[in-house]
Amino acid sequence: MRLILFGAPGVGKGVQGNLLKEKYNIPKISTGDILRDNIKNDTPEGKEAKEYMNSGKLVPDSLINSIVEKRLRNEDCKNGFILDGYPRTVPQAEFLIEVSNKMDRGIEKVISIEVEKDLIVKRLSSRRVCLSCGEVYNMLTDPPPENGVCRTCGEKKIIQRDDDKPETIEKRFEVYNKDTHPLKEFYNNKGLLVEVDGSGDINEIHKNIISLIE
Ligand code: AMP
Repeated sequence: MRLILFGAPGVGKGVQGNLLKEKYNIPKISTGDILRDNIKNDTPEGKEAKEYMNSGKLVPDSLINSIVEKRLRNEDCKNGFILDGYPRTVPQAEFLIEVSNKMDRGIEKVISIEVEKDLIVKRLSSRRVCLSCGEVYNMLTDPPPENGVCRTCGEKKIIQRDDDKPETIEKRFEVYNKDTHPLKEFYNNKGLLVEVDGSGDINEIHKNIISLIE
């Protein structure tokens, strides 16, 4: 199964991607997570990406494309993969078609998760993440433990992402509407797009996604 999870920032691509990864035992490839790892490890890619990310802009296509190409060649992608946060521009989507077809790993379905903007803003501004393992919390629905220790990795590094602060959320929406939203039509024209309502209960949404892909 080779899937793209598509949608505006904060619609729940990461959470749904993790559930699908567990269910189908295939990797979830989050370009945002890969970039954050690179920043943490102070790699050349991390250095290049940092300013763009902190201000809510997209990192250049060339950088992200080469990261994804390398990742898709990995042995663990041979039975499938879930892309979360990639592609985000038409040139990225065109690049993905080219490289994934070359590897015989072409995309089979694009799941667009649909949520109203007001709800997304509420979710994003209350999101907290563990810097160490990427576990996601939400101050409204799933707060981190009071002692600040991550339930998954035991580290004490739960923070609010710089790009989840209100000014940057607005910027990310602008970028999404301008650069990423056109991909819906791109994939719809290819007959790959399916839509799912992402506003309700996490497990219900998961079930709905499964019924769309099986
Ligand atoms: P995310 O965790 O998916 O919200 O990504 C966080 C940030 O990483 C984005 O706001 C971008 O700055 C950068 N990023 C992640 N994926 C991409 C991509 N496919 N193209 C360009 N920038 C990306």
